[in-house]
Amino acid sequence: MSDRRRARLVVVGNGMAGMRTVEELVARAPDRFDITVIGAEPEPNYNRILLSSVLAGDKTRDDIIVNPWSWYGKRGIRLMTGIAAVGIDRTARHVMLADGSAVPYDSLLLATGSKPLAPPIPGVGLPNVRAFRDIADTEAMVAAARSGRRAVVIGGGLLGLEAAWGLKRRGMSVALVHLMPTLMERQLDVAAGELLRRDLDARGIVFFTNCQTEEIAGDERAQAVVLADGRRLPTDFVVLAIGIRPNIDLARIAELDVNRGILVGDDMRSSDPDIFAVGECIEHNGQVFGLVAPIWDQAKVCGAQLAGDRAAVYAPPPVFTSLKITGVDVFSAGALAAADDADEEITLHDAKLGLYKKLIVRNDRLVGAVLYGSVGDGPWYVELMRDKVDVSAIRDRLMFGRSFAEKSEAALVPEADATTTVSGAARAVPQWQDA
Ligand SMILES: Cc1cc2nc3c(=O)[nH]c(=O)nc-3n(C[C@H](O)[C@H](O)[C@H](O)COP(=O)(O)OP(=O)(O)OC[C@H]3O[C@@H](n4cnc5c(N)ncnc54)[C@H](O)[C@@H]3O)c2cc1C
Repeated sequence: MSDRRRARLVVVGNGMAGMRTVEELVARAPDRFDITVIGAEPEPNYNRILLSSVLAGDKTRDDIIVNPWSWYGKRGIRLMTGIAAVGIDRTARHVMLADGSAVPYDSLLLATGSKPLAPPIPGVGLPNVRAFRDIADTEAMVAAARSGRRAVVIGGGLLGLEAAWGLKRRGMSVALVHLMPTLMERQLDVAAGELLRRDLDARGIVFFTNCQTEEIAGDERAQAVVLADGRRLPTDFVVLAIGIRPNIDLARIAELDVNRGILVGDDMRSSDPDIFAVGECIEHNGQVFGLVAPIWDQAKVCGAQLAGDRAAVYAPPPVFTSLKITGVDVFSAGALAAADDADEEITLHDAKLGLYKKLIVRNDRLVGAVLYGSVGDGPWYVELMRDKVDVSAIRDRLMFGRSFAEKSEAALVPEADATTTVSGAARAVPQWQDA
């Protein structure tokens, strides 16, 4: 490489993980690489998380652009959008593109994200059936809300709920079908899931929990979602939000080591030391990822490694989830339930006020928190978990939040047991209308 100017870095995936890694790299070593970014989507890098806000009408497409075209230009980064990488020749060291061209690399970064899962049922390919993953999906949903009246969302996790709320805000009647009895069951326990359902019921979303989808019926367009118990939910639009899986297509073609995701070490290198990978496409120590907090840490390590810092290593932080539905405060981090008798579950439950807090303490360390209705202390709980703080000295005040727990006067500890049950809560359940 002595007669050549700079090493060539090719990044496949112009999404959140890839571009955060490039930001980290150019902040540390702006002149180290000639960088080419290949992105299948037509846009410059945008904040995918905020698609929910675009759908709900709180933000525009322009508001969520993170790095505009000029950002790439100013840093001398070559950005190729609207074109997919379709292969990697690891011997010749180049990436093959869908138009037949090839881009040579010295180092390669794969940041290809995830693919939405589709249930194996008839009708998923109909034109008015979409996932919720990118700007094109979001625009299709916005258009559907202009022309249609009813939508069915399949999947009651974070994405499905945000899709349902966005479509509701756009004026549609929305039904949500979920296979499990509890909404967001991977992040919430039954009590918090029940409060969430109650709040969203009150906003007019109609839930079909514990229900399996059998078919999306319709000839040229989806006309109804058919449940396994025979019920038909007439609809003008269907959103599939049952989950994601790492996009490992390219890595597989290139014969890199893969399992669920592209296997990487603590240095974010794949089984080929010249090929790095970050984001939802990777698997690290058996873990795959679906939230940005751990991805930012990966980007930091990968950017440092690319900049020449071989000591940078990735250690996954505790992850937390919150829901972006205005006025619905939900937070979840770490363990959802006590694993054994030695664990302590501390709960506060006021169904009338819609407040719920559960903390899991194991060996004097906080290992889990589920909050509903009041989530301001969520980041503090994550800090305690991340730093493995011994909480025994504040154990009796932990539940009441940071400012309270850090006051030392015992007199400030509330005497009353605030526990009430959800069973007395009145619940008006809206009905799904055919017409
Ligand atoms: C609607 C929505 C709401 C979300 N809300 C939250 C939230 O509140 N909190 C949170 O932490 N996370 C949230 N997430 C998840 C978060 O957006 C992802 O974790 C994050 O975007 C992952 O980054 P990534 O770079 O790995 O993947 P992506 O951001 O998806 O980027 C991957 C990019 O690679 C491109 N690509 C794939 N294959 C190729 C190829 N062969 N050639 C060229 N380009 C290719 C894709 O087109 C895509 O642009 C949300 C996701 C969605 C969809």
